[in-house]
Amino acid sequence: MYFYPRYSCQKLFYTNLKLSRLRTLLLSLSLLFSVIVIGQDLKSPSEFLGYELGTQFTRHHEVVDYYQYIAATVPNQVQLHEYGKTNERKPLLVAYLSTADNMANLENIRTEHLKNTTGEGNPNKAIVWLSYNVHGNESVSTEASMQTLYDLLTVKKEYLENTVVIMDPCINPDGRDRYVNWYNQYKNTPNNLDPNSKEHHEPWQSGRANHYMFDLNRDWAWLTQVESQQRLKFFNKWLPHVHVDFHEQGVDNPYFFAPASEPFHEVITDFQRGFQETIGKNHAKYFDENGWFYFTKEVFDLLYPSYGDTYPTYNGGIGMTYEQGGSGRAGLGITTRIGDTLTLKDRIAHHHTTGLSTVEVAAMNAKKLNAEFKKFYQNKNYKYKSYVLNGDSDKIDALRGLLDQHEIKYGSASNSTVKGFNYKTGRMGTMRASENSLVVSVNQPKGTLVKVLFEPKAKLSDSVTYDITAWSLPYAYGLDALASTSKVNLGAGSGWKILPPVTANINDEAYAFITDWSSMKDARFLSDLIQRKIRVRYAMKPFTMDGKNYKRGSLIITKADNKNHTDFIETLKEVANKHVLSLTPTSTGFVEGGKDFGSSYVQMIPDVKVAVLSGEPTSTLQFGEVWHFFEQQLHYPLAVIDSDYMNRVDFSEYDVLVLPSGWGYRGFMNESRLKDLKEWVANGGKLIAMSGAIKSLTGKNGFGLTPKESKKDSSVTVQAYESSERDRIKGAITGAIFKTTVDTTHPLAYGYEDIYFSLKLGADAYDYLDNGSVVYLEEGNTSPISGFAGSEAQKKIGKTLVFGVESHGRGSVIYMVDNPLFRGFWENGKLFFANALFMVN
Ligand SMILES: [Zn+2]
Repeated sequence: MYFYPRYSCQKLFYTNLKLSRLRTLLLSLSLLFSVIVIGQDLKSPSEFLGYELGTQFTRHHEVVDYYQYIAATVPNQVQLHEYGKTNERKPLLVAYLSTADNMANLENIRTEHLKNTTGEGNPNKAIVWLSYNVHGNESVSTEASMQTLYDLLTVKKEYLENTVVIMDPCINPDGRDRYVNWYNQYKNTPNNLDPNSKEHHEPWQSGRANHYMFDLNRDWAWLTQVESQQRLKFFNKWLPHVHVDFHEQGVDNPYFFAPASEPFHEVITDFQRGFQETIGKNHAKYFDENGWFYFTKEVFDLLYPSYGDTYPTYNGGIGMTYEQGGSGRAGLGITTRIGDTLTLKDRIAHHHTTGLSTVEVAAMNAKKLNAEFKKFYQNKNYKYKSYVLNGDSDKIDALRGLLDQHEIKYGSASNSTVKGFNYKTGRMGTMRASENSLVVSVNQPKGTLVKVLFEPKAKLSDSVTYDITAWSLPYAYGLDALASTSKVNLGAGSGWKILPPVTANINDEAYAFITDWSSMKDARFLSDLIQRKIRVRYAMKPFTMDGKNYKRGSLIITKADNKNHTDFIETLKEVANKHVLSLTPTSTGFVEGGKDFGSSYVQMIPDVKVAVLSGEPTSTLQFGEVWHFFEQQLHYPLAVIDSDYMNRVDFSEYDVLVLPSGWGYRGFMNESRLKDLKEWVANGGKLIAMSGAIKSLTGKNGFGLTPKESKKDSSVTVQAYESSERDRIKGAITGAIFKTTVDTTHPLAYGYEDIYFSLKLGADAYDYLDNGSVVYLEEGNTSPISGFAGSEAQKKIGKTLVFGVESHGRGSVIYMVDNPLFRGFWENGKLFFANALFMVN
């Protein structure tokens, strides 16, 4: 979360845990008794693992063992399916469970259910999907999943008569084991309830996120991570009626379950809202019986589409977040604020109860769920019927890649003029469409998802939300777009034609080869060439060659520069083929317009050596975004240098140092550090400072950028205590999109046009630089194009910097006030980062 951590709300709730523990004990005794009678042949998790569930944390491979044991013991009722592997090679699993009859008929149940999305089929089973431990250190979830699996096969097997349950015991095994292994290493023996003891304080690299420190509960729509990509492929095969994402929040919070809080996205149907309440009331019945505390309708809203609750909801299901108090702080037991004890066993009992109660409600309502699911897919009466997109073909390809993963259909347009809302001007207008235009319509099974991801502005029923309020894909991908109120027909063939790359013309005859610079695809190509020791130049001025115009930043690969390369032509061919990229050969370096290839305006791209700061003071998520960008998007090496030992590192070995955003820079960037950094830059270093890292570089002893403070209103008025939250958001920007101006002559902006839509994540603001303001907000242009920005924040960001470059001695500082790598999904921002590495000197 960005502003208000969704995982630990700051409210003062408390639980009477002693009473609840007694009841848990009685409950488990009665469960144990019935289990002995019913499930004689099947071992419970405690019996299988050799310790009582809740007295140890179970490592991922042991969880896998238990699921495998169950599937092997009752194969007619449980099937296990491995849908992928994590970055650290752990298996990603789901278990299907139902009655033997249903399981024998599983494929038929699935296809009848999917046919329901097109109004056909004859489904009669409820499909419930339970996802555990998306946040690795919210570690009770996976433990609870084992008990829930066992009980559904024993004491609660009647729920399975008309229900198929799909259980993902752990969405994030890398994060979970990071937490569990850490806890096992540092726990006291016996475990210590004292919240000050180390076992309650995870280190910087906590278990919450995945290997690349991405929050997988923000990634369902963007699919930047391998866990999400592989899971979604499988999710689309089932599209469950009900999906639960099990979480944990701060230790002192009572349990949260549905119904969710406002804002609800407007596509959510009355039935979906109503059913959240039905489920919530069933949970409340059990919680009331046990005297457990809980809350509903607060904090956890349903708007941002990339969550484990909203994403299934926009696919026709009832998506819910359940939050237990505990998470990475709680360990096996902890003393709460009011002096009670919260144990892992308590946490298991709660998640286990809501898991079973969810299946119970679904089982009772299978018929209704199927009827409403069908209605959801038929009802697509949205204002905008089609979205038409024009622009750089690499960017369209990147977007198509995302749409394919969501199974969203698209095609190319025919030659025509389309009318509708123009994303660039923000007004009604027209746009030319052609066979190169991408058309995406809501008239398809995934139409609701199309609306949510493409619409220019999501309607906000409440501005107090826990996440970003804007994400519209045309802005994120940097494409010209038009939202049409009438359906736009597809062109002939209705598919998308993919042209093969032209590599036959890469041969020894040419003087040089040229390609444009406009996308991450081009940046990946360059990155590959640099690593294969091929020297590449870039044009600082536009030029014309053989009648074709090339923009600034175009790549020029000359034979002369590579005369010492042992295998120049073959390597170039291979790399161009790999990246499906066409190069234009030329027989001369003499241009028709612009600067010749031998000019000093045609510069060599350096083979830069990059380091990134990690550990305190950086944020794990923002560090992870940089790490992932280099390794999984740009495919360029980087050294990760921890703040713990950075003083012992000789930075003269590096050309670039990246400071990811973070909250701890104020204390970290002391006078001597700042002095060293300035000296390193003056000697030719290139410093990339992102968002939260910037402020610590300013001030009396810092570089030249100045923070802009908001002018405080001097007329103090009395505000009601209750209105303080609403008042606070006046100064906030909760992830909104702004139209910014670009100096396209600057190397940092090569490949961009004169307008850039930036995702602003906060109200930090800096004055223009004297020289080198490359992307900036102009005065009077500060209301968001999409999303929420408070009135005071809007005033503050007028005439401020978004991206800029300050020269200092022989080096430079690149400021990224907005974060173009945020959650890895703002595709059109990433080239700024590549420019910072390769083009800016
Ligand atoms: Zn969570």
